[in-house]
Amino acid sequence: MESQKKYTRCFSFEFFPPNTGEGAEKLAQTAKQLAQLKPEFFSVTYGAGGSTRERTLKAVLDLCEAGHAAAPHISCIGSSRSSVRETLQEYKNHGIRHLVALRGDLPSGTATSGEFHYANELVAFIREEFGGHFFIEVAAYPEYHPQSRSAQEDLNAFRRKIEAGADSAITQYFFNSDCYFHFVEECEAMGLRVPVVPGIMPIGRFSQLARFSDSCGAEIPRWIRKKLEGYGDDTASIRAFGLDIVTDMCDRLLANGAPGLHFYTLNQAGLTTTIWQRLGL
Ligand code: FAD
Repeated sequence: MESQKKYTRCFSFEFFPPNTGEGAEKLAQTAKQLAQLKPEFFSVTYGAGGSTRERTLKAVLDLCEAGHAAAPHISCIGSSRSSVRETLQEYKNHGIRHLVALRGDLPSGTATSGEFHYANELVAFIREEFGGHFFIEVAAYPEYHPQSRSAQEDLNAFRRKIEAGADSAITQYFFNSDCYFHFVEECEAMGLRVPVVPGIMPIGRFSQLARFSDSCGAEIPRWIRKKLEGYGDDTASIRAFGLDIVTDMCDRLLANGAPGLHFYTLNQAGLTTTIWQRLGL
């Protein structure tokens, strides 16, 4: 874990771009509240196939205007090189220097995958076209990506993203810190020297969490699933139990060298703030 410790810790919060004026106002409030915790940056997701391109940019610019550091996500699947170049140029024109670069998933019913197949091609393209202008984050999967043919192939795919020029990585969320530590060891064994920041999903609603987890391949350990299921509609108990286990996991991650935390906030400040306060950050 040595190389992880060389970096200053980086804490960040992820939002999705709101699609109503009301959502935008709520996001501004959430950001204001979370900014008090002094994260390094906020990030804003990007819809499949560029479907939120304008909204992602607007949300990032609103955050910047309010004085926050913000990084847009950008995905490449289903896109042409010229449309990706245009999006990147627009980000650059607005003074944005930090990106989360992803392959993304094809929207259902889309027949063509466009000119990019995997995220390493996007990272290489950004470096070819924009040199060192952007600080590039990529995704990492301690429980392996659901489409990967094997653990080793997924690690190789991760290595290609770093070798293409990514600066740092943020993981898919997980509820078992062992998979994270194992992943970091595997990266170190491959000679990869970038921070791998754990992605943290606070637990608010079980049905939503179960749906997300099934689609992204993040395992909810059986004992946690059973407890959450057992609470039924008792949201207060779900949140209380979720706060306990997620806070404990964050504590273990930081105590054992994780270089920061990236919270999937779902545009809500409450659970993230409570975890933060309990960690004494
Ligand atoms: P890649 O790294 O390209 O990997 C995708 C799959 O392809 C993996 O299974 C990998 O093993 C395999 N692979 C890679 N290279 C090869 C190869 N040469 N041959 C065969 N197989 C290969 N999605 C969005 O749409 N918008 C977002 O804003 C967004 N933000 C995210 C933020 C984080 C921190 C994370 C962890 C995920 C995010 N996602 C987002 C989800 C992400 O787009 C999906 O998980 C997507 O399926 C994979 O994207 P990737 O960049 O990890 O792809």
